[in-house]
Amino acid sequence: MQTEPHGTPDFNYQLSQDHILKSFFDTSPIMMGIVDLEQNEIRHIIDNQATADFFGRDLSDMKGKLSSEMGVPPEAVKLWCSHYRIAEATMRPVTFEYHFRDRDLSATVNFLGKTDYGNSRFSYVVMDISFLKKSQVRLEEKVKERTREIEKQNAQMEAVFELVSDGVVVFDIHKNIVLVNDAEAKICGFESADEFVQSFSVLVENFEFRTFSDDVIPKEEWPINKIMRGEVVKDLELKGRRRDTKQEWFFKFNGAPVRGSNGEQLLSVCITRDITPYKIAQNKQTLIQDNLTSSESRYRYLFVNNPLPMFVYDKDSLHFLDVNQSALTFYGYRREEFLRLNLKDIRPYGDNYHYRKNGEMCSVEIHGNDMDFNGKKARLVLVNDVTLRDQVEKNLKETVEKLEEALKNVSDYKFALDQASILATTDAAGVITYVNDKFCEVSKYSRDELIGKTHRVVNSGVHSKEFFKKFWDTITRGEVWKGEICNKAKDGSLYWVDTVIVPFLDASGKPYQYVAVRNDITDRKTNLRALEEAINARDEFLSIASHELKTPLTSLKLNNQMAMRHKDQLERFPKYLDQTRRQIQRLIVLVDDMLDISRLATGKLSIQKTEVDLIQLVHETLDRVQDVIKQYGCSVELNLPESCYGVWDKFRIEQVIINLLTNAAKYGSGRPIIVSLGVEDSMAILSIKDFGIGIAQEDIGRIFQRFERAISKSEVSGLGLGLYISCQIVRMHNGSIEVDSKLGEGSTFTVRLPLNFH
Ligand code: ADP
Repeated sequence: MQTEPHGTPDFNYQLSQDHILKSFFDTSPIMMGIVDLEQNEIRHIIDNQATADFFGRDLSDMKGKLSSEMGVPPEAVKLWCSHYRIAEATMRPVTFEYHFRDRDLSATVNFLGKTDYGNSRFSYVVMDISFLKKSQVRLEEKVKERTREIEKQNAQMEAVFELVSDGVVVFDIHKNIVLVNDAEAKICGFESADEFVQSFSVLVENFEFRTFSDDVIPKEEWPINKIMRGEVVKDLELKGRRRDTKQEWFFKFNGAPVRGSNGEQLLSVCITRDITPYKIAQNKQTLIQDNLTSSESRYRYLFVNNPLPMFVYDKDSLHFLDVNQSALTFYGYRREEFLRLNLKDIRPYGDNYHYRKNGEMCSVEIHGNDMDFNGKKARLVLVNDVTLRDQVEKNLKETVEKLEEALKNVSDYKFALDQASILATTDAAGVITYVNDKFCEVSKYSRDELIGKTHRVVNSGVHSKEFFKKFWDTITRGEVWKGEICNKAKDGSLYWVDTVIVPFLDASGKPYQYVAVRNDITDRKTNLRALEEAINARDEFLSIASHELKTPLTSLKLNNQMAMRHKDQLERFPKYLDQTRRQIQRLIVLVDDMLDISRLATGKLSIQKTEVDLIQLVHETLDRVQDVIKQYGCSVELNLPESCYGVWDKFRIEQVIINLLTNAAKYGSGRPIIVSLGVEDSMAILSIKDFGIGIAQEDIGRIFQRFERAISKSEVSGLGLGLYISCQIVRMHNGSIEVDSKLGEGSTFTVRLPLNFH
């Protein structure tokens, strides 16, 4: 720039544009110049001083030289060439950085056009950015260092947050929670900070805050909102509550906004301290104090209103300090009077006797407790009038004795009744509510099987519906019912009970329970029935016997008449005599049987032991019943061993065989009779088999009993005594008699006799 040699500079001085540019070009500290690209070489057309300085050459020396000639290494030439080509191709300036001779350089190349020689011409501008680069690196390092520091601080902060027992929550300006520690989460009943609510809106939904006097704090007044509005909150005590879990806690709240350097609010920090345990303890204390106050008044109440006499006296002076109404009534004083007295006035002779105002002495029991009465050492006394208690005790004792006596009587009666009778109680509907052991024993049901059921359980079906209707009508009217009932035990057996049912009536006269007392009369009933049956049997027997006896007698009478009528015709007499003999024989059998029966009944039938040849006896017997067998048109087949001897009562065994053979003929339908004899195990086994009418299975059991017959009396004559007598005789020989029979097919009677019985 040119200046005036004298005076002020002339600003109107005009410079040509080229001149100015050349000046900038020459003096610029930035390297610049123009080059031509000749294939892969760079020829310097014009460079400025800065470039010459960089290369350490004279400007004149550089003009028209190739880069390689100036010591630029081939890879640098290659790099430059490639950027020149890009600029030419894109027709845009290309900027690139490169490191050359310890320098960081930033170059911009631009395509200027083609030369007359067909070369491409470019401008270049190169700036030394080594200083910039260095600053950048330094800056980056500084940033890194700072970041590391911040990270460290953050970690420390977080550690501190996690360690402090105070809860910390930090909100950003958008009310997002950016930080919360475990302590805060735990105060609010969460497991850890991870579970804590994520945003303020969720907090609003789930939390409720109250003052200690339980006033709900509106949301706008929440301390966090105050902080967000820029306020600072100090030592605010609140009660928090979770809506979801209903958990409640007490806490102290502190909080403040955090501002940036320009003063704008960035964060809101809240610090809460759990004071729940302290508050609970404080509440308990209050409660205890409340209780103390109320217990004092309660004691006062107890003192004043106690039905027992109570007073307080000064332990030093023995003067009365306080007295209750019961004591005034008991001793007969007015309050002012009493409070003027001392202990000795009512208790001149020791603790157990107190005097009333009227001079009456009463025996008392004293309970005393030392106490403080308005700063004085005093004693609180409770007086128990034992006179009355003694009286009551005596009365009570007498009553108890009477009751015990009565109870004993009742239990004695009950015991006696229990032993003898079957007891049961039912409710109004007849449902059994109680049964005694005897009931269970007789009915064979357990108590559990009876309670809750009706007496239908033991219904035997013996009594008619009308019988029970009458019975119910009586007891539901409230009247006692008496009668005999046949019941059925669990095993199906029947038992008879003499029964009395007593209804128990309620206030309206309706039965609410029935007590049934029963006595087992089964034996009596059975005996009675047996007796009745025996009488019937006897009557029947008498009618049969008279018939049976009458038949031969009638025929004898007829025979006799015929003989008388034909007394001159001697040739007819053997026939009459024979008939008479048979009828007499029949009569003898009947009478013998009847005699045997009475002998058996009186135990007078005896056994005369002799050695008997049973085979011979069978033959003899067959001879004797030959007539009868013939009369019924039967034949006998014998099946006898060579010999069979035994020691028996010959006459009685014969009687047995006669009975069995006669029956086989009588009931054998004219078919053959097989008589077999054998010996087995020292027993003679005699069987008489017929193929006659047989015996029904149900009758088999009873035909061996007295007077029992399995046929109607008119069919075949007989007294129903033969088998009974035979059975008794065989038993007396320690033997047995059995029958195997089928109705309509025949019967086999088998007699077993020990060969030598004792
Ligand atoms: P009674 O023959 O006089 O009636 P018993 O005591 O000998 O008396 O026989 C009793 C009953 O047994 C007979 O009435 C008859 O019904 C039955 N009974 C006995 N033996 C036979 C038999 N062999 N076949 C069928 N029934 C018989």
